[in-house]
Amino acid sequence: MSYQKQFIEISPPKYGMEEMYSVCNHKCNLCKGRGAIPTVGDKEGNTRPKTCKRCDGTGTLKAVIKINWTPDS
Ligand SMILES: [Zn+2]
Repeated sequence: MSYQKQFIEISPPKYGMEEMYSVCNHKCNLCKGRGAIPTVGDKEGNTRPKTCKRCDGTGTLKAVIKINWTPDS
């Protein structure tokens, strides 16, 4: 099975002490990318998918990576 890996090479910037990166389009592992989670049936046995709160129904997640540079003391 193939899968994609993403790497960040860390190196101090010339200016600034803070960096931020976003890595998008990761499949939500809670709803398995469907954007909804099946619920238990009601009294009549009807089930209705519930919007996944983790990905807000999009089925994908974004990683926000923040790097703070500080003196190494
Ligand atoms: Zn989800």
